[in-house]
Amino acid sequence: MGLKIYNTFTRNKEDFKPISEGNVGMYVCGPTVYGPPHVGHARSYVVFDLWYRYFLYKGYKVKYVQNITDVGHLVGDRDEGKDKIQTKAIAEQLDPVAVAYKYENMYFDCMRKLNVLKPTISCRATGHIIEIIMAVQTLIDKGYAYVTDQGNVYYDVRKFKDYGKLSGRTLDDNVSGERIEIADDKRNPEDFALWKKADEDHLMKWPSPWGEGYPGWHIECSVMSRKYLGDTFDIHGGGVDNIFPHHECEIAQSEAITGKPFVNYFVHNNLVTTNGQKMGKSLGNVVNLDDLFEKYGPMFVRLYIVKNHYRSVLDFSEDRLAETNITYEKFASLVEETEKYKEINLDGVTYPDIDDMKTRFLEALDDDLNTAVGIAILLEMVKEANKAKDNDTKKLAYIRKIFDELAGNILGLNFEIKEESSNENLDKLVNGIIEIRNEFKKNKQYEYADLIRDRLKENGVNIIDTKEGAKIEF
Ligand SMILES: [Zn+2]
Repeated sequence: MGLKIYNTFTRNKEDFKPISEGNVGMYVCGPTVYGPPHVGHARSYVVFDLWYRYFLYKGYKVKYVQNITDVGHLVGDRDEGKDKIQTKAIAEQLDPVAVAYKYENMYFDCMRKLNVLKPTISCRATGHIIEIIMAVQTLIDKGYAYVTDQGNVYYDVRKFKDYGKLSGRTLDDNVSGERIEIADDKRNPEDFALWKKADEDHLMKWPSPWGEGYPGWHIECSVMSRKYLGDTFDIHGGGVDNIFPHHECEIAQSEAITGKPFVNYFVHNNLVTTNGQKMGKSLGNVVNLDDLFEKYGPMFVRLYIVKNHYRSVLDFSEDRLAETNITYEKFASLVEETEKYKEINLDGVTYPDIDDMKTRFLEALDDDLNTAVGIAILLEMVKEANKAKDNDTKKLAYIRKIFDELAGNILGLNFEIKEESSNENLDKLVNGIIEIRNEFKKNKQYEYADLIRDRLKENGVNIIDTKEGAKIEF
């Protein structure tokens, strides 16, 4: 069985056929960098990391493009409200570029902790303003877009007859039932901004044929995906909340510009809820990754995501997380217990029962990346390892080899990443020792304070007293 992918276009699992044999072009909408990364980011980018890793495992050459939205994403997602980054820049009294850079770094830092591979190309919207202006001009020239007397450029969705083909929404659906603020210079309420005129106080703006302004949110993805992957590419990914309006607008822009199909497979991961409730800033239930990592560790969070199929809703609750603990411990102890057998020579060795598990694991992943079944098979492997304990070290070594290949390479689960937490523990320990030494100094018991300093020094740790207090040098 070859790889099957659920395509949002057809609402069906389809055989994956790349445009160019042996190559995959994949574009995934990246984060808008205006706040700390949260569990929704973790889910989406772990899911596409799994796709990326699986394509690599299957021998494809993958060009994985992910953008960084550092301008143009308005608070309301629908052309209303202020730019998210500008709003944060004012709140934090920082330059908007500094805001974007700060949260971009934070994003990549969290992704590294989650063992998410970096995309082949990471591109920022602000680095593509010239191409964006050219694309907007093409849409105007082709009659799909119009410039208003207020200096805004909108896409006229009624000119694109396929608008709604991804989401299944008709133009009438969009108007009814949604409370949206409509700019008074739009021809139709559903039209979306390609270029917005900047007010006097707007911080990020560029000269354009239509005056000083900044791009709308959707156009950057059409521009950057085309620049790096061509007119038509294999896979476009994102969260289900991107289907409408974002991906629908991308299709309208790209296909109007090129006259060709934009994407062959649209792949969407489902939402994350907290205790059954939709997660949202306004509901105050957004879980930031750094808080979560502190409590559970990033590999635990990754396992929790991988355990669930990407198209099912992922509910985040303490109880559900606790359930992951059992699986985590089983995997972690398998790794720990088989560590000493890793070097055993396995030339010509084979265990059909383990090979069968590997085959079933790969079949599950071929079936629209069913990692939930994959994890269940890895647990069977743990059972086999327990049976082999103390009597078949070769089998243990063999299981470890296959486990590393499936859980490590494909699922990106690394149970040996302990560096982060052990560093944190070391910091806590050293800080504790310094506190004790401070107490001795306060009580004028200098001989004990010096004893601590000298003993640490013998072990390569220097305590340096400064005006701001004691500092440590390793
Ligand atoms: Zn996008």
